[in-house]
Amino acid sequence: MTDSPLFEIGLFVMMFAAIGTVLWYSLRQKNRDGGETHYVRALEALAEGDEVQAVAQFKAAARENSSNYRIYLLLGDLLRRQGMREQALKLHSDLTLREGLAAEAQLKVLRSLRRDYEALEDAQKGAGIAGKLVSLQNRPDGDALQQWVALLEKISDWEKAAEVVAKYRMKFRFNVDRRLALYAVFRGMQLGEKGEREAARAQFAAALKSDPGCSAAYYHLGKAWLAEGNPGEALAAWRRLCESRPEQAWLVLPELAKLPPNDGLEEARNDLIRQLAGQKQAGSKTILALATWLAEQAKDPDGALALLEQQEKIAPAPEIYRAKFRLLMRKRKYRLAAEQYQGLLDQEAAGPGAPFVCNGCNQTFDQPLWQCPGCRQVDTFGL
Ligand SMILES: [Zn+2]
Repeated sequence: MTDSPLFEIGLFVMMFAAIGTVLWYSLRQKNRDGGETHYVRALEALAEGDEVQAVAQFKAAARENSSNYRIYLLLGDLLRRQGMREQALKLHSDLTLREGLAAEAQLKVLRSLRRDYEALEDAQKGAGIAGKLVSLQNRPDGDALQQWVALLEKISDWEKAAEVVAKYRMKFRFNVDRRLALYAVFRGMQLGEKGEREAARAQFAAALKSDPGCSAAYYHLGKAWLAEGNPGEALAAWRRLCESRPEQAWLVLPELAKLPPNDGLEEARNDLIRQLAGQKQAGSKTILALATWLAEQAKDPDGALALLEQQEKIAPAPEIYRAKFRLLMRKRKYRLAAEQYQGLLDQEAAGPGAPFVCNGCNQTFDQPLWQCPGCRQVDTFGL
């Protein structure tokens, strides 16, 4: 009886030891299973919006268990977000070498890798990964295709871009024929730069087949002919644009002024100008270009003013007010000019009026463009 308390104490000690051992083993096992504690803590940190803590926990989780690809995927994504792009790229490219990843996991890894290259501004490699992503999908999703094409556009790989857009034409949000025409124009411009003039013109012609309203094709076809010393063909190309899309004629009017003086050409050119001035649907930009032509080329400021006044009645636009103001100043009609400027201020458009603005990055340029040299997006000028 006297040793009973000792026996009870001994029993307690043994019970605690047993429970402790079981707990220790179960925790150790859990860590072996998937670095669960750090992994879960990292996810909890993410839930609380603490990305720095999440990174630390993911790193610890990776040390404990290297078989869970999600640790590396998320860790890489977080590092990229925190500006450590090279490290993110390393983690994700290592994941691509991993054997036995399920198809869905492979797609996730490639998506992250594409974002890494985009963050590193390596569009070339990014486009390669984006293409791989599409090839791994039985039915490629629209986003994957859009991103691939955007990267191909960025690196000016027009042949591949055209191939992808033509193959998956139903998946794109933009007008596919219009875009394919622009790709052909860009290929033509590349060929022209290499001195392959005939091949370049063939591309411009192909562009017009895809989209007969492609102003870029007419514009560059005319320029190509002019560079080849054939102003007659240049005028013919620009005339086709003026006739098929008079509202876009303003694009080529400044080019018409560059045609060399030549009797037959002069007459055809003046014909075209007269024809455009009589067009009801010429639009304010074309009327403005015509007025500039009349004032500067034909030395007829009164004719220019009359044209602008007529357009003002049809569709008053800031650029028309602005041009009228300048013309009136040149004619020293100050009272009328002041009234005109008031009209501009009323429209809250008194600024200088930038001619070509990219809708993608808001940079301005002084010549018509169909790919932005700044952000390299295609068809962002509304031309
Ligand atoms: Zn841009």
